[in-house]
Amino acid sequence: MGGAVLKCPVCGAILAKDQYKSGLSLTCPGCSKQLRISRWYLRLSMLCAAALTVALCLLFGMRGLRLLGTTAVLWLPIGLVWNFFLVRIIPLKFEIDPSDDRAMDLFRR
Ligand SMILES: [Zn+2]
Repeated sequence: MGGAVLKCPVCGAILAKDQYKSGLSLTCPGCSKQLRISRWYLRLSMLCAAALTVALCLLFGMRGLRLLGTTAVLWLPIGLVWNFFLVRIIPLKFEIDPSDDRAMDLFRR
C-alpha cells in the first residue's frame, strides 16, 4: 500500500507493510508492543466514507428512506475504496493497542 514508511509510535522502528495486512493490529518488531491503527484515523476514514456515500446517493437523486438504505449498503464498499485512497493522502497512523496491559498502565494516570 503506497510508498509511505510506517513507524512504531513507541520506538520508531520501521514496520514492514506485510505485517498489518492481516488485520488492524500488529506487533512491533522493535519493542514488541501491540499496535493498532489509530482510532481517530479509522473514525476519520469512516466519517469521510459516510459523507461520500451520502453525497453520491444525493447525486443520484435518492431521498428519504431510500437514501438511508442505500447509504447503509454502500458505506462499506465505498469505505474500502476510500481507504485505498486515504492511505495515500494521510499515512496510516498507529497507536498502542489498549489490550496490551503494560501500555494501558502507562496511559492510565
Ligand atoms: Zn516499537
